[in-house]
Amino acid sequence: MPETRVALITGITGQDGGHLAGLLHGKGYEVVGLIRGQNNPRRPALLEAHPFVRLVEGDVTDPVSLARVVDHADPTEIYHMAALSHVGYSFANPTLTMSVTGQGTLNVLEAVRLTGRTDKTRIYQASSSEMFGGLDYNRPGLGYDEDSRFHPRSPYGVAKLYAHWIARNYRESYGMFVSCGIAFNHEGENRGEEFVTRKISKAVARIHLGLQDRVRLGALWPKRDWGYAGDYVEGMWRMLQHSEPGDFVLASGVTHSIEDFLTAAFARIGVEDWRPYVEHDEALLRPAEVDILLGNPAKAHSVLGWERRVDFEGLVDLMVAADLDRERRAHPEAAR
Ligand code: NAP
Repeated sequence: MPETRVALITGITGQDGGHLAGLLHGKGYEVVGLIRGQNNPRRPALLEAHPFVRLVEGDVTDPVSLARVVDHADPTEIYHMAALSHVGYSFANPTLTMSVTGQGTLNVLEAVRLTGRTDKTRIYQASSSEMFGGLDYNRPGLGYDEDSRFHPRSPYGVAKLYAHWIARNYRESYGMFVSCGIAFNHEGENRGEEFVTRKISKAVARIHLGLQDRVRLGALWPKRDWGYAGDYVEGMWRMLQHSEPGDFVLASGVTHSIEDFLTAAFARIGVEDWRPYVEHDEALLRPAEVDILLGNPAKAHSVLGWERRVDFEGLVDLMVAADLDRERRAHPEAAR
């Protein structure tokens, strides 16, 4: 009998957690999800979408809860996705961000070590392109790779850099199988509504249906390397199947501005000039902005055989289509 593979996903209620749950279930894993809070409001939707997930309660800021969960679930793989993941939110809540996004990773690593699983459990650490910060961008056309210099520009980026280095440290110090995916922005139909891409796709759908007049946005010039979350979780899984742990950039290798995203999204509803529908909101500007992020996924391509399937246009398409569908179902009277 082949050994049952058990995957523990922290951040199961988040965007990537949902994509991972589906992917791993399809591959025959028993999927266990860490869920926080006494009565997490996202639990019903999660169980409706993924009824096969076994939920266990815990919080990445509570090392005791993590040790209990790891001991109980006995995972062969941990996908550590839990974080406070919004850059803007991290400026307003820097201490909490450090605790959840930074120290939460240490707590996961320690839970594995203290329960005697260093040789048994492989760990994926969700590192981020925000660790690069855009300032040292001096490789036009090539993009950041695994050896590029870090210069995070937000409390989120700094917390992720701590998490990235402590994960590498446990790999080197204790010989643990810990791989860090340095993921560039990935979006999709289940992206949180606080993120700019989803804010745009939802607003475009609602404007088309006459449910909303305008959308308020901050900076429009920043450029990001955007991909589809469904593709990126495949890369995460591949990292844990590889013979050696390591760091891998997951990116599309193409960068687009928020203006480009607006243009593409409004084009889906037949609007060429989006300017009358967009209001500038100073309050949404960040104390420090990251002007451009571009990743170089050459290592993931050659070592893991990973390729993204959905391009920028395809991503915008599927996000606007999903929001149109959701809004039409919520407002049948507005259907066009
Ligand atoms: P997300 O949608 O914001 O999900 C974050 C998850 O973390 C949620 O399930 C949330 O649960 C959970 N969480 C927050 N605080 C927690 C705590 N104290 N204990 C346990 N769980 C907690 O993020 P995502 O887009 O799926 O991203 C997944 C990971 O990849 C994150 O670490 C993110 O920083 C990283 N990343 C994402 C991107 C991207 O573009 N998406 C790029 C690079 C790196 P609740 O439902 O309880 O809030």
